[in-house]
Amino acid sequence: MAKDYEIVIGMEAHAQLLTKSKMFCGCSAAYAQAPPNSLVCPICLGLPGSLPVVNQKALQQTIMVGLALGCKIRIDPQQIKWDRKNYHYPDLPKGYQISQYDLPIAYGGEIKIALGGEERRIRIRRVHLEEDTAKLLHADRATLIDFNRSGVPLIEVVTEPDIRSPQEAKAYVEKLRQILRYLGVSSGNMEEGSLRLEANISLRPAGSAELGTRTEIKNLNSFRAVEKALAYEVERQRKILEAGGKIQQQTMGWDEAKGVTVLQRTKEYAQDYRYFPEPDLPPLLLNKEWVEEIKSHLPELPEALKRRFIKEYGLTAYDAEILTQEPEVAEAFEEYVAAYPQNPKAVGDRIARSIFPVLKESEDSLAEIKRRLPPWVLGGIIAAKEQGKVTTSTADELAARSARGEIAAADVKALEAVFAQYQRIGTSDSLLPVIEKVLAENPKPVADYLKGKDTVLRFFIGQVAKETKGQADPNLVKELLVRKLEDIRQGGTNQ
Ligand SMILES: [Zn+2]
Repeated sequence: MAKDYEIVIGMEAHAQLLTKSKMFCGCSAAYAQAPPNSLVCPICLGLPGSLPVVNQKALQQTIMVGLALGCKIRIDPQQIKWDRKNYHYPDLPKGYQISQYDLPIAYGGEIKIALGGEERRIRIRRVHLEEDTAKLLHADRATLIDFNRSGVPLIEVVTEPDIRSPQEAKAYVEKLRQILRYLGVSSGNMEEGSLRLEANISLRPAGSAELGTRTEIKNLNSFRAVEKALAYEVERQRKILEAGGKIQQQTMGWDEAKGVTVLQRTKEYAQDYRYFPEPDLPPLLLNKEWVEEIKSHLPELPEALKRRFIKEYGLTAYDAEILTQEPEVAEAFEEYVAAYPQNPKAVGDRIARSIFPVLKESEDSLAEIKRRLPPWVLGGIIAAKEQGKVTTSTADELAARSARGEIAAADVKALEAVFAQYQRIGTSDSLLPVIEKVLAENPKPVADYLKGKDTVLRFFIGQVAKETKGQADPNLVKELLVRKLEDIRQGGTNQ
């Protein structure tokens, strides 16, 4: 009879940061579109005698990630330290990578994932900062090297071995990527290599506290690959253990085409890298005030946003989840709701019915779709449907065709007739009194804004939308709100 095994998985993710310049030099980090070897200097080429300088923005973004994951940040008097990870490879001209070994910037956080209605906490061991390597391109009979990527800032996020199934591993990396994208610190684009994943996995008899021997799987370039490679490795290890064999500690690669893991090399150990403190960079003492300031400007993260969508708009948990998957979609939802605040649920449904399919079937960006199907049109379609002026199928067709950019001139006339009652309040004169009223009625959020909490702007925009029954242009409302709030900050009173 087959024994029961518990699966133990830990994940390591490398994410490129979206900084303008590289980690230790002034070269542009926007390497993807540049001609090969055009963004290089003595530092990122690793020439002797060149000296690295730390990129402050990369440091700031790493702190943001650490804070968003609930990590402790190593602030003064704790030091953060740079180390050399020594190994020889053609894509690493210096013969070492500047990384962080024992004193990373952030440590001890967690990510919550929900799977099958159950919430699981995956502890984050550490988040550290390092530099990317150059890129090797294997041609027919030669290997080419492009140094543009050499020195691009890279964070590494490492979990504790808390993941218990391939599905959980997939849910974890999806959540991590979502958080990175909400923070705006990484594109998380896996096809372009901006986010790269590795997993380590072992099995142990159910109930045992001891960890089994693990293997490491590299080159996991999609969420699907994470789940499939781990599922494959679980079965491979299980068969060996059931036959009374031993697992070798080794590094595997994932062969996507064949659907198998393949041996790359027997596992290297930390001591193989001869880590030692980077002599060209002193340890850093992070200023507490700076970290506090970064914390106060963190954007609203998916979990908090989801809770707010449920509370503020009365959405179901399911709808809120779907609308907060991508930061751009959440933002679009709020713009659309501002145009039709009477029924946020209908707005969410309309987005799912009319916009998601276009996003899926075409290369069109959400920004492009919003231009074709602006909030006032979408709001108008919902209003017309709810008032029984058009049928559901007509509403579907109008919205879908608008989103695809297919609405013909005659249809625009029809649309205009339907929306004729939908007069917009578009001038500052008519809006200012409403904005002043909203600010006067909400002193607490005003105080929050003045303390630097920019996210309350959305609350105000929502309130103005309610007052104007969604007929105000949200962009104009935002502009006027900021102007009015800045007046208050300058010492004016809240009249
Ligand atoms: Zn450079």
